[in-house]
Parts: sequence; structure tokens; C-alpha cells
Amino acid sequence: MADCDICGRPATTKAIIEGATLSVCARCVQYGRELSAPATRRPQQSRPMVELEVVEGYGRIVRQARERAGLTRQELARKLFILENVLERIENEHLKPNEAVAKKLEKELGITLLGPRGEEDRQKPQSFSTGSSTTGRGLTLADLVEIKKK
Ligand SMILES: [Zn+2]
Repeated sequence: MADCDICGRPATTKAIIEGATLSVCARCVQYGRELSAPATRRPQQSRPMVELEVVEGYGRIVRQARERAGLTRQELARKLFILENVLERIENEHLKPNEAVAKKLEKELGITLLGPRGEEDRQKPQSFSTGSSTTGRGLTLADLVEIKKK
């Protein structure tokens, strides 16, 4: 392969730097965006052996559990020592919680967020609307309390 266009060392990959495609070494690739042609295969992230993965639909799981617990986002974030903004992004699934945060959420809310990789926890088809499909929102905790009172 060619020499690194930046420093002259043996290039290991190609990167787009300021609009130009250059051959670069592993060091200089940081100056641009690496082309995703995997000429050199490198191991996928050096992760620990933990084979846990955040389950699908984690955002909804967190939000529903939080609401069930009657906690505001701010309250829950405080309990977990994370930023409210981070919690919001998790609930919107813009951010996957890391294992530490996921475990805290699991513990605090009594939910399961981490599953073994591959072996997916297929979500059981839950009946979302409890008969009252006219409203389309199902029953909230408040509704249940109301019903019990009657
Ligand atoms: Zn270089």
C-alpha cells in the first residue's frame, strides 16, 4: 500500500480529509473521516466479555415504568445520578444507556433492560388497549384508581 499522504509512514487505510481521499496511516486517520472500506480488519471494539445488550424498545420500557412509579424525569434522573437530559434521550431512544446506567434503571424501576445478546426477549403481544379502544389510550393508573373507588 501507499505511504501516508500526511506523514509518509506506511498507510493502512484511506480517509477523506478536507474533501480529498488520502492514504493515511492509523495515526493520521484522525484528521479526517475514515473510508469505510475495511482493507484492514480490526477487531470490533475491545469490549469486555459481557454478552448483554440493551433490549429493543428500551425507551418505552423506561418511560412507562417511570410513569408507573409516579416519578418525573427529573426525580428519576436524580435518583440515578444522571442528567435529566440523558434520561430524556434514553426515553426517546436517542441514546442507548450503557450497562451501568441500564442496571441502575433496572434496579430503580424493577424492569429488565439488559438481555443476553442474540437471545431476544421477544415482547409478548400485550393487549395495549384494555377494551376501551374508543379512547385509544388504554387505562392509566389514575383510571384504575377511579374504577376501584366506584
Ligand atoms: Zn500518517
